[in-house]
Amino acid sequence: MLIEKVIDYYTELGKKTPGNPFRLSNSGRCARALAYQRFPTAFKAEPMSARVLMILEEGKRVDKWLKEEFRKHCTKEWGREEKEFYIVVDGVKIYGHADGVPTLERYGPTVAELKSMSNFGFRNALQGKTDYSYRCQLNSYVVGGGLNNALWVCYRKETSHLLELFCSKKIAKVETRILTPSGGWLQFAPETPIEDEEWQRAEVTHPFDPNLHQEVIERFHQVIRSTPTKLPEREYGPRLVCEKCEGKGFYLTEKRQIKKACTACNETGKVLEPSLGFPCSHCRFKRYCWPQAKLKYEGKKPLWIVPREAVKDVPIAHIHEELNLQEPQGPMKNPGSETSNEAEVELF
Ligand code: SF4
Ligand SMILES: [Zn+2]
Repeated sequence: MLIEKVIDYYTELGKKTPGNPFRLSNSGRCARALAYQRFPTAFKAEPMSARVLMILEEGKRVDKWLKEEFRKHCTKEWGREEKEFYIVVDGVKIYGHADGVPTLERYGPTVAELKSMSNFGFRNALQGKTDYSYRCQLNSYVVGGGLNNALWVCYRKETSHLLELFCSKKIAKVETRILTPSGGWLQFAPETPIEDEEWQRAEVTHPFDPNLHQEVIERFHQVIRSTPTKLPEREYGPRLVCEKCEGKGFYLTEKRQIKKACTACNETGKVLEPSLGFPCSHCRFKRYCWPQAKLKYEGKKPLWIVPREAVKDVPIAHIHEELNLQEPQGPMKNPGSETSNEAEVELF
């Protein structure tokens, strides 16, 4: 009939080799993956599925639509679409484009990025837990543009909720407030669930993180210095220590602090069957990093299992572990079934 032709088109597109790794949108991606990408004759990327590409296409269309709305309704503030910025690392100019640079009433020129999100990413954004790679990207735009602020406009695909995540050198702490139908602002705490019908928009403030820029510089520096035989360390990898008991083999109950044996790891404190988490599980170069990884299904959930022996001596730089590997805690109702932010991240 019709759809197979569209799917075939995206399937072909997914075989394309990823391009230049030196882009500001790659500021927070794994240095090793960027190095693989830099040497396409030595390292062949796995194809991207048609489905992932179509999710990305949908995201681009939401961006386009939101820009149109801003052009129409925010004529005073909105402007400088696709503004180009760059930072320089070891003499290499690394370019990026912001969706726009609106001039906000209280804060002045601000780098703006528009993102459509699934429930998973939106829930995290609502809690001020912006994905590490996005924070690096926005940070690089702020630094590259010589500005003080960045604004992330997030659109929740499933329900059309909107939130603005505002990151600024003038903000001291993460705070979320939600506009209720009565017109009042509700201070929001992650542990307070809220029904979808009870709100339409939210504002999240986030302090600017100057250390992040150092991490970005260091990452690109490593990629620039790499060769096919001298690659940067892996930034991610399978977890080997049991999370539930933190490697102790037992844990203390919350209220009465009674010692209980950890059944998750058979009291060993170890993850018995290590598996790749995000982003390794979705990385197009995982077979180079984890050649022994085997795909297995736990119910319907695909898992890349790696033998413990093959991982235990591999050095992994978990510089941003806590922000990328945590399971989300949901303040929103109907969080859906996503377990990764696959759809939110442009996967090389
Ligand atoms: S598999 Fe993981 S560690 Fe290796 S390049 Fe990809 S993201 Fe980095
Ligand atoms: Zn345990």
